[in-house]
Amino acid sequence: MGKVLIIGCGGVASVAIQKCCQVSEVFEEICIASRTKSKCDDLKNKLEGKTKTKITTAQVDADNVDEVIALIKSVQPDLVMNLALPYQNLTIMDACLACNVNYLDTANYESENIDDPEWREIYEKRCKEKGFSAYFDYSWQWAYQDKFKEKGLTALLGSGFDPGVTQVFCAYAQKHLFDTIDTIDILDCNGGDHGYPFATNFNPEINLREVSAPGSYWENGRWIEIPAMSIKREYDFDQVGMKDMYLLHHEEIESLAKNIPGVKRIRFFMTFGQSYLTHMKCLENVGMLSTTPVMYEGHEVVPIKFLKELLPDPATLGPRTVGKTNIGCIFQGTKDGKPRTAYIYNICDHQECYREVGSQAISYTTGVPAMIGAMMMLTGKYTKPGVYTLEEFDPDPFMEALNKHGLPWQINNDPVLVD
Ligand code: NDP
Repeated sequence: MGKVLIIGCGGVASVAIQKCCQVSEVFEEICIASRTKSKCDDLKNKLEGKTKTKITTAQVDADNVDEVIALIKSVQPDLVMNLALPYQNLTIMDACLACNVNYLDTANYESENIDDPEWREIYEKRCKEKGFSAYFDYSWQWAYQDKFKEKGLTALLGSGFDPGVTQVFCAYAQKHLFDTIDTIDILDCNGGDHGYPFATNFNPEINLREVSAPGSYWENGRWIEIPAMSIKREYDFDQVGMKDMYLLHHEEIESLAKNIPGVKRIRFFMTFGQSYLTHMKCLENVGMLSTTPVMYEGHEVVPIKFLKELLPDPATLGPRTVGKTNIGCIFQGTKDGKPRTAYIYNICDHQECYREVGSQAISYTTGVPAMIGAMMMLTGKYTKPGVYTLEEFDPDPFMEALNKHGLPWQINNDPVLVD
């Protein structure tokens, strides 16, 4: 049915690629292209003979628009899946526009160099306009709305789990369970244990920036920003147990506030263990999370990039991680004039993911929705010209695909609410 160019070959991409290869009737051809071509070749060798999908590989620096354009022209894909880092979102979107190809990613654009004065000026102006100070937000990519519309192309933003499936859950709740949704609490619980005192489950640079930033939530039409990790709750998660969770800023709050009519409050909570938080605070205090280069023995070193080199590669956590994730959305609202609540969630087992694709559940829960989003686009279910997030499409085919492709969901109609 289609040919896809996948950019990036890290933890998330390796799951998405393997899942695409399980649906060869949709993904007839895949080109895997990344900065380090040997990783693409290794994955191709692992998959060949086990799938009908034809796989090729290429080297690309996706920070360079011209390189991406040249690659797209040689591959001629129907869709580009950006599974590299959020730093590359804009260059890859530009290349897609230049070549008339549809686009998909799994996370909001953010700048790699947050000290760049030109970027900083725009960022600070947007902070004042928006009322939150996260380094990532939708404005950069929503600015492409008209360009994608004019060309009749679709850009699907944030097709991972959160963002991603959490927005599909919201669209499903709105379509089938509620007449009005008053509050949404998105809960992201990772009950997995990898045995290291400190490691991140996905790209450490992106992860640590997100977690060390101020938190914020949406209430009564405005953002409320709080110091990092200053709102903590305990929650008893099905099949995981009691965990501490902390309120974070998260990108899907911004699009849901726009797309779920009448919603009064949206919050996002993520679980962290004490060891993770103690390490992160210490690293932050000594300056290891900084993105500002320092000179060391005549060499320029970016502390957070150096730290990334020291930390375990998230792609290697698979064999060591045991336990489950429980991620979903708690809704409060009304149905047929009566109050109603629901928790729509998925439980995913780290070791089961490892047995299937050689990865832990964080890469799995992101890679599977990336494949499903691409499948929705290639099969013509999610195609409308412009730039969209998942709650803007019919949730039903996506929900059906989640059950079929490894992320079954369930509904608790009487969940414990978060105060
Ligand atoms: P990794 O660091 O494991 O992989 C990133 C990949 O991108 C690597 O293969 C890397 O190449 C490649 N890459 C980086 N820079 C470039 C470049 N300039 N040109 C070409 N390739 C490049 O990250 P993850 O797989 O953990 O994360 C991938 C994405 O998924 C991120 O955007 C992350 O934010 C997002 N994510 C989304 C989630 C969700 O639920 N929505 C959850 C988790 C992650 P190299 O091997 O050379 O380093």
